Amino acid sequence: MTSGVIHEIREFTTHDGPGVRTTVFLKGCPLRCAWCHNPEGLSPEPQTMRTARGERTVGRRYTAEQVAAILNRQAAILRSNGGGVTFSGGEPLLQAPFVEDIIGRLSNVHVVLDTSGYATESRFRRVAGMSQLVYFDLKLVDREAHIRYTGADNAPILANLRALSSMDVPFVIRVPLVPGVTDTGANLRAIAGIAGSLAGLVRVDLLPYHRAAGGKYAGLGMEFLPSWNEAQPANADVEPFLAAAVPVSVASGDIRLAREPERI
Ligand code: SF4
Repeated sequence: MTSGVIHEIREFTTHDGPGVRTTVFLKGCPLRCAWCHNPEGLSPEPQTMRTARGERTVGRRYTAEQVAAILNRQAAILRSNGGGVTFSGGEPLLQAPFVEDIIGRLSNVHVVLDTSGYATESRFRRVAGMSQLVYFDLKLVDREAHIRYTGADNAPILANLRALSSMDVPFVIRVPLVPGVTDTGANLRAIAGIAGSLAGLVRVDLLPYHRAAGGKYAGLGMEFLPSWNEAQPANADVEPFLAAAVPVSVASGDIRLAREPERI
């Protein structure tokens, strides 16, 4: 029996996969994206967070059996709403054996893996292979820029993306649009070039940049120091994707868009 640390089990989510879902946010991430809006998901351990209403503990250890029991109780309602369960984070693959154990205990539940792709290929293949859909975050194709903004090499991420394309699991590439960092023409063209060569790709989602992370950092005793202009409108340019015949969707959120999103 495995156990792991979860910072939230959120019910009735509608942006973490098809239909109505329950999203399990696992604690701990090997990356340190400068724009991360879930700093409470970075440390693998429970921690204290200060808020306007006082202190609270973020993160709790569960057994796989406990989590599966919670999710299985909701399975019928999730199924009837075309949904299921999403494993997100943090980075869920940091606790891959725990996630595998939970999935193995689920009864007829649609599973989405929401991952940065940063894991060993064996861990990645095992959990992706137990999922019905993968949301794969792709931030920066340039290796040096990836190291500068996330603290990690993107080689394992790109290798896992290629591995995913050889598996029989559909996937969506998700690109966070950070002004002047990930939304540059060069980066979007590079992502479109990769995406256009991948079997199994459902679409690329261009995602809005969230500006609300600063308070959470302070509550955890961390600093949020964006080196980009947060007020700059995101460049949600779909042209490179259309040119590469890649289905693309833009979530409007709080960004100013160059064009109306194409809905898929
Ligand atoms: S991969 Fe996601 S959770 Fe991890 S640091 Fe980056 S944005 Fe945050």
